Amino acid sequence: MTIKNDPQRMEKIVSLCKRRGFIFQASEIYGGLNGVWDYGPLGVELKRNLKDYWWRVMVRERDDVVGMDGAILTHRAVLKASGHEDTFSDPMVDCRTCKTRLRADQLPEKNGVKQCPSCGGKDLTEARPFNLMFSTQIGASADPDAIAYLRPETAQSIFVQFKNVLDTARKKLPFGIAQIGKAFRNEINPRNYIFRSREFEQMELEYFCRPEEGMKLLDYWLEQRLKFYENIGLPREKLHVLTVPDSDRAFYSKGTYDIEYEFPFGLQELEGVAYRTDYDLTQHQTASGKPLDYFDEETKARFIPHVIEPSAGVDRTVLALICEAYDEETVTDDKGKSETRIVLRFHPRVAPIKAGVFPLLKNQAALVEKAREVQALLRPLMNVFYDETGAIGRRYRRQDEAGTPFGITIDFETLGERDPALRNTVTLRHRDSMEQERVKIEELCGRLMSAIS
Ligand code: ATP
Repeated sequence: MTIKNDPQRMEKIVSLCKRRGFIFQASEIYGGLNGVWDYGPLGVELKRNLKDYWWRVMVRERDDVVGMDGAILTHRAVLKASGHEDTFSDPMVDCRTCKTRLRADQLPEKNGVKQCPSCGGKDLTEARPFNLMFSTQIGASADPDAIAYLRPETAQSIFVQFKNVLDTARKKLPFGIAQIGKAFRNEINPRNYIFRSREFEQMELEYFCRPEEGMKLLDYWLEQRLKFYENIGLPREKLHVLTVPDSDRAFYSKGTYDIEYEFPFGLQELEGVAYRTDYDLTQHQTASGKPLDYFDEETKARFIPHVIEPSAGVDRTVLALICEAYDEETVTDDKGKSETRIVLRFHPRVAPIKAGVFPLLKNQAALVEKAREVQALLRPLMNVFYDETGAIGRRYRRQDEAGTPFGITIDFETLGERDPALRNTVTLRHRDSMEQERVKIEELCGRLMSAIS
């Protein structure tokens, strides 16, 4: 399936992200570091909300999953046993004309001939494997044994700690170990903004089971993961499931699905859900000489569990959320003047700021004091933003661009000056419909919490 590319939409999104403080190029004032990004004040909140929701549904709300947080620096032997040291590579070619390094499997073709996407040149070298792992040196010695790697995925520390977690968490099959954390890959061609970067975060679950349950659980987890994306605001019709063909699947996998999303630059992978059989635990058991098997109390059998792995990218999901949320609409004000409203229609659950709190006028002490009270009331429960500068319409627009689902305005009615019945009520404005309603301050927490949780 081909999805229409929309580079203009992507450009607008990238510029909004910089202008509003979602995402910045890393080391920007020194010219930037290619394929590495920093998240600004709004970006970090969005990312955190996404990770928190994943943790909530994948770990805290389940009896059969526990979490862990492994180290980034990884023993060379781990990644030797997992196969990464020998085979975690992409095919690389050089363009002899402009010297660009390219991924051989992603080259555009013209009349059946592969060409360089930078200069159009057709004089390319033979493809050769390029290992994607970043290595580093542990301690002061230059000894080759002192090599360690920055992990290329979070999964391996889960396999290596399988026995420790099993013994301490006292779980029975099927059960899972979940982890969220940084991973590093020296991508040949980082591109599409934060979609393919060299430093990124993953949210991974390794769900261990009996061999006979594997195929059924693979489908179960695919369904769970699709529901997750719907629950954060990515509509099902924009999510596509690719059944990875036998020829493209890792040799040890009995089945793999890719969950793809319609990005403005095409249909691309958000998450892989793979049935990895007993490959990883067997590899580590053989290489370390330490038993990594499971004793089944009922059947008295010992065996190496199989594993299903839903592996999602935090940054790719953040990008999908922003792409999905971005909207422009023409609105007409009371005076008949029309303007373009840019609005990020985030699901309230992931929105970086949940509510803007606005005193109608900043030079009215009573309004400011009441607005500060409302801010203090909501603050322990959610991220709120207090803003007293500029016309109220402008303040609403600023929050629309940040994707804030609610605006709370404290006006003279709040003070009960016009109608005592309205004392301690505020105007609650809804971002998407721009509708406004009067709500009692004492009801605000309940109203907002049910929308954002
Ligand atoms: P791709 O084919 O796009 O390189 P992959 O199939 O190698 O991805 P996995 O090894 O399955 O990716 O990693 C699991 C998830 O980690 C991916 O679905 C993606 O969301 C995320 N991920 C992998 N590589 C990157 C990267 N370079 N930048 C951002 N996220 C990444």
